Amino acid sequence: MGSKSKKYVYFFGGGKADGNESMKNLLGGKGANLAEMAGHPKLRLPVPPGFTITTEVCNYYYDNGKKYPKELKEQVNVALSKVEKIMGKKFGDSANPLLVSVRSGARKSMPGMMETVLNVGLTEKTIEGLIKQTGNERFVYDAYRRLIMMYSDVVMEKAEGIEPKGGKGIRKMLDEKLEAVKHSKGYRLDTDLTAEDLKSLVVEFKKTVKEVLGKPFPDNAEEQMMGGVGAVFASWNGKRAVEYRRIEKIPDEWGTAVTVQTMVFGNMGDDCATGVAFSRNPGNGENQFYGEYLVNAQGEDVVAGIRTPGPINDYSKNDQSKTLPTLSKIMPNIYKELDSIKTRLENHYKDMQDIEFTIEKGKLFMLQCRVGKRNGVAAVRMAVDMYKDKFITADMAIMRVAPNQLVELLLPMIDPKAELATPPIAKGLPAGPGGAVGRAVFTSNDAVAWAARGEKVILVREETSPEDVDGMHKAQAILTCKGGMTSHAALVARGWGKCCIVGCADIEVGSDLKSFETKKGVTIKEGDWISLNGTKGIVFQGKLPLVDVDVEHNKSYTELMKLVDKARTLKVRTNSDTPKDAAQAIKFGAEGIGLFRTEHMFYGEGSDKPLFLLRKMIMSKNLDERRKALDELFPYVKSDIKATVEAMKGYPVTIRLLDPPLHEFVPHSADKLEALAKELGVDMAELNKRAEGLRENNPMLGHRGVRLGITYPEITEMQVRAILEAAAELIKEGKKAVPEIMIPVTCAKTELDNQKAIVEKVDKEVRAKFGLKKLPYMFGTMIEIPRAALLAAKMAETAEFFSFGTNDLTQMSFGFSRDDIGSFLPDYLNSKILPADPFQTIDQDGVGELMRYGIEKGRATRKDLKVGICGEHGGDSESVKFCHRIGMNYVSCSPFRVPIARLAAAQAALEGKKKK
Ligand code: PEP
Ligand code: MG
Repeated sequence: MGSKSKKYVYFFGGGKADGNESMKNLLGGKGANLAEMAGHPKLRLPVPPGFTITTEVCNYYYDNGKKYPKELKEQVNVALSKVEKIMGKKFGDSANPLLVSVRSGARKSMPGMMETVLNVGLTEKTIEGLIKQTGNERFVYDAYRRLIMMYSDVVMEKAEGIEPKGGKGIRKMLDEKLEAVKHSKGYRLDTDLTAEDLKSLVVEFKKTVKEVLGKPFPDNAEEQMMGGVGAVFASWNGKRAVEYRRIEKIPDEWGTAVTVQTMVFGNMGDDCATGVAFSRNPGNGENQFYGEYLVNAQGEDVVAGIRTPGPINDYSKNDQSKTLPTLSKIMPNIYKELDSIKTRLENHYKDMQDIEFTIEKGKLFMLQCRVGKRNGVAAVRMAVDMYKDKFITADMAIMRVAPNQLVELLLPMIDPKAELATPPIAKGLPAGPGGAVGRAVFTSNDAVAWAARGEKVILVREETSPEDVDGMHKAQAILTCKGGMTSHAALVARGWGKCCIVGCADIEVGSDLKSFETKKGVTIKEGDWISLNGTKGIVFQGKLPLVDVDVEHNKSYTELMKLVDKARTLKVRTNSDTPKDAAQAIKFGAEGIGLFRTEHMFYGEGSDKPLFLLRKMIMSKNLDERRKALDELFPYVKSDIKATVEAMKGYPVTIRLLDPPLHEFVPHSADKLEALAKELGVDMAELNKRAEGLRENNPMLGHRGVRLGITYPEITEMQVRAILEAAAELIKEGKKAVPEIMIPVTCAKTELDNQKAIVEKVDKEVRAKFGLKKLPYMFGTMIEIPRAALLAAKMAETAEFFSFGTNDLTQMSFGFSRDDIGSFLPDYLNSKILPADPFQTIDQDGVGELMRYGIEKGRATRKDLKVGICGEHGGDSESVKFCHRIGMNYVSCSPFRVPIARLAAAQAALEGKKKK
């Protein structure tokens, strides 16, 4: 590429700037915002002048054997002389030297991941000049020792790729020397060191640098600056930065910019300070200026946490800082200026700003501004407040909140402050969000028994099975070593909105089921307290405090959701199996049930009798026995369905016919087996034989779903009768009932025809029994086998609706077992073979293509084919957006995901509008 006329360096300062805020790709976030603050006619803020070397230079540097474009030096010199002119100082000058900082800045903020060098330009020659200018010898030598420490670490060691011997880097060695002097002199703080102390330390530092790194510390300002620039570029490919980019999905090709900026000093005395502030409170969203500062300090001192920063105003006081003086009190004029700059910045950017400032000898300088990070609660409040103040539009408010941030508003969570102060003991997959605290127990029975005594427990299992459901329900949270995001534990927990971590390979449960041990060697015994952050998948030892959230009383949330519902076209339903869940989902805004899993009535509280009858039905040997069991089961199924349909107040309810692998329901305990044998009038040998007959090598691909109804039509018949009679009774009671009968695990139209014949027969009988002309039901199918998607045109001849069961569709498209993916998924993600867990976020290229094709073909046959999704993906924001784009009518997800899906659906609609 011809680079002759290319601009590599962008100047800012003195009310002017070559760049602006829109140039983040070229100047990095920091460079672009500095240019905007310095040069925009509406801002022209007091920004120390400087210049930004573009991200293109970073890429050039890596593409050309770590060399710079030849025009760079000249462009740097031109920009530097502009800076010198504004400052009336000269870089490297012995009389009045200019010092600069060299900082990194990528398009997206990568906090702490890349390097910075401060005080660049201090040499034997410039030191004297600076002492004369400042009249402060101690300050100058302190700045010099900081430069040597940072520079030798960042430029001479890390950027050169030198691996420190014995793991102890140069910075640590110099630190130890500084501590030794403090110790020998009986000082407590760095600020106790005198100019003389620092002078001799500097001599020792330089000697050590030469000895350890084999090169003298550079005594030339220009060499220091270019060394700093190279070190920033090198840090783009440092281990930390590469790792962070991988997690945050930041492309390697972006590169970093480098900003060289005049140093201003917050550490020249008590009329100096440095600080960080937010234009609104990032913790709760209140429209209050919020920040911290330190007198007589440099930026790194605030971060280092050695001194407790003071609050900038009364509002910013916290427990630690409440007795410290506020900036508004000790420097009222500066505070006023800062406050007015904050308002101008917010008005300009129309969003909350995170700002860094320094006060040098009573003069305020702005060092950085950027859109501030915030938690979910704050994000919602700020978006709504700004909309109400006509600061931003409704569309902007909707786009301001990331759908997953809503989770924080819905579930109790571990107090973020406590979490920061506690090191985690293990990490797994975040299967059920929120926080939970409880005592570790290792069996479902123990969970039930302990909970009955009023104990809060967390159930820790290798993995869970339906037999554990009672204990899971009684537990505050569930932690498993195995399993992926759609494993049994994950699915069940999410349905309940329960905190859950699965696939936590960091822990090993002891064979006696009385303790677990972490990889780090921590042992947790039965009864020991642990705390889980299910939103992040982190396990802590001990009892951390929880903070409660009550979303219905959150006015900002309700207002935001009003805007959201106006903007979206995609409907949102819920996966619910009980009247309680259904009621909760309605509160969260669900517009129907997209998946009612009938088999859930056989788990948990109150399920003893129906479960016994179901087992009896499964273990029946012939039609007569089975019919008898089904007749007994019928009233339970009917009343269960009726209660949930009623709770949905006329919204549609999709009831899926039974779909469990049968062997899951064979009891394991001797007493339960005996009771069953007695009921069936057979001996144990016969019962065991029957149970053995149900065993399958591959139950997920075995006798489940529609296959049960094909083999045993009487099972379908009983369920359909329960559904239609429940609807008929409700209609007779003057209520609305809209059941949708859904056939699971289908792969052929002929399966649907077979089942539909049963439905039509029962429909006729029920109408006759209740004297009704018509029953308002629909007949449809799940699409969860690739063949069903491929034959969608045919399936739609019989089905009036499709519901994509993307858990099974993903399993069968990839050939990945949904219960075993935990053992190899991390490798797939780490080596970027897959971009994400396909059981969490729809694989748009493969599974998504089957869905798109299925919808297109299905609607070609039946124009008004209703299409939804009821796999776990229905509550994942990216997947919800995809569902909107391929023209679905609704998504369905667990109650606690409903608000998230509503917001994602609204955002998808707005994104679609923008594209058009
Ligand atoms: C699915 O397969 O996506 C589905 C919803 O059914 P289940 O998870 O019950 O198999
Ligand atoms: Mg399924």
